[in-house]
Amino acid sequence: MRAAYLEAVGRVAIREVDEPRIEAATDAIVDIVATSICGSDLHIVLGHLGGEIGFTLGHEYVGVIREVGPAVREFAVGDRVVGPPAPWCGVCARCRRGDAAHCERGGVLGSGTAFGGFGGTQAERMRVPYADRDLVRVPEQVGDASALGVADAFMTGATGARNAGAGPGRSLAVFCCGPIGLMAIHAAAARGARRIIAVDPVAERRQLALALGASHETGDADPRAFIAEATGGRGVDGAVEAVGLPSTFAAALDALGPNGELAVLGIGGEPFSFAAGPTLLKTVRMWIGLGDVTLQEGLMALIADGLADPAPLFDLEVGLDEVPALYERLQTPGHGITKALIRP
Ligand SMILES: [Zn+2]
Ligand SMILES: [Zn+2]
Repeated sequence: MRAAYLEAVGRVAIREVDEPRIEAATDAIVDIVATSICGSDLHIVLGHLGGEIGFTLGHEYVGVIREVGPAVREFAVGDRVVGPPAPWCGVCARCRRGDAAHCERGGVLGSGTAFGGFGGTQAERMRVPYADRDLVRVPEQVGDASALGVADAFMTGATGARNAGAGPGRSLAVFCCGPIGLMAIHAAAARGARRIIAVDPVAERRQLALALGASHETGDADPRAFIAEATGGRGVDGAVEAVGLPSTFAAALDALGPNGELAVLGIGGEPFSFAAGPTLLKTVRMWIGLGDVTLQEGLMALIADGLADPAPLFDLEVGLDEVPALYERLQTPGHGITKALIRP
């Protein structure tokens, strides 16, 4: 079968790779019907996460089951499904205490042996481990783009919104409106947040943020005055930092009112620092971490019931052959793509 393969740091090619096979009784094989390129794929390609090469890329997918192992009970050939970017077994000590993100038999799809050596989704087919545990059925009325949003961006954004305390009547500021930030906004709106402020320098992204549930938007590099006005001088109850830069981290911390909650989802690279004194006096709860894969099922239900839809994220559709060029294009500043839907 054909797959987008990381041949060298910075070089992706479409090549023939071995067909995936059932390796454990709990596995399924899926035909990939839609996949995408994520910010973390770019970090892998550019060698920022260890520099390993020689594997199929990609961790986001919608698939149709082609084959199931003998222990798979909940799914059958022909079912349309999504699964988590990070497989989780459900039975190890960490999974059993509710920490699926750090499953002892887990890792990340399409990210090399350092991340578990799982298959990648930018391919015609893939082996899914722990199929009964991990897969989420896609209801008939949910389109591929809406379902693909659940694979990572909506799940991770929703994790940020939850961990920033977004809830009925609470205010939230989201710093950077890439796919994850946009989905934090969308999830906060679905959770009943009242004032949702999108902060991003790109006007088109701010427009999309409004369409996905933001109530306010600003492109100001120093949004303090704007946020103060939007919140009646109180500051926001929660903030999501979705790019990972010291400047946006500082702005997010600054935007919080007393007892504010900050969720950091961005992977920038440069270290953050902050002044402990003023932060302590304000009282801040900070969370930084991985998306909660166990949210996928509930988010799919929200979409099925018409209460949310990540589909507007996807503004480009390409075939597998165009993936190497797409990796190049996504490294170009001002590329203008929010998120691509790839049809293997
Ligand atoms: Zn992703
Ligand atoms: Zn586990």
